[in-house]
Amino acid sequence: MRGRWPVIKETRAKSILNRSSIGDYVINPYVGCQHACVYCYAQFYARRWGRTEPWGSYVEVKVNAPELLAKEVRRKRKGVVYLSSMTDPYQPVEREYELTRRLLEILRERDWPVLVQTKSPLVLRDIDVLRGFSQVRVGMTIITLKEEVRRVVEPHAPSVDERIRALEELKEQGIGTFAFIGPILPGTSVEEILELVEVLKDKVDLIYFDRLNIKPGLRPKIDAVLRILKAEKWSRNQDSYYEKLKARLMEELSSKGVIHIFVY
Ligand code: SF4
Repeated sequence: MRGRWPVIKETRAKSILNRSSIGDYVINPYVGCQHACVYCYAQFYARRWGRTEPWGSYVEVKVNAPELLAKEVRRKRKGVVYLSSMTDPYQPVEREYELTRRLLEILRERDWPVLVQTKSPLVLRDIDVLRGFSQVRVGMTIITLKEEVRRVVEPHAPSVDERIRALEELKEQGIGTFAFIGPILPGTSVEEILELVEVLKDKVDLIYFDRLNIKPGLRPKIDAVLRILKAEKWSRNQDSYYEKLKARLMEELSSKGVIHIFVY
């Protein structure tokens, strides 16, 4: 009999509401991520913590996260909570464990401000909870409109169309939304990004842009993908590409009145 894929392990964390530079706190209900994005920087940190298996092949479920959070919100100062920096809070395993949902319910009880970022329309399941916050914003990461590129770089993540439809639904339901276009893959043209912006701009309040930052040890994997995408000439010396891209985009976005933030 075949084993379950990914390998799921239930663990108990020591704390869950951790200080962060993104927002005031970050919550990571899981270690590992089934979406298995090639460029994911979290796999670098996971390796440092001793998880050397292929990224996407395992998930640790912090089963005591709600119990911990209920205690921590009582003793910590209220602040903006970001879900999640090292995992996708709505990866498939969330359907079964509902950790993210239960964590949001606890934060909603005390009305802590929340930022959620995901690649999954599973977030729509929790619209009832999200509507109860006075400050909440939900974002989708979308780096391309091309499904053939998405399949290579984000092999097990939901399709681009599903994410766009999810943003539309969130917006219709009165939830604040944002799009995160990042990491922009080296070699992506300005026109391609503007086409994506055009699709997203009515569905979100804000668009973030980020570049690719290659963590140590990930270069061979990323170079292999850039070769498949025929973008290998951009593999090294990317700085001038990203600076030129930023300058062009800033001009275009301002003239279109798109609210944007470059995080690089
Ligand atoms: S969805 Fe986010 S956390 Fe998950 S693999 Fe992709 S980049 Fe990493």
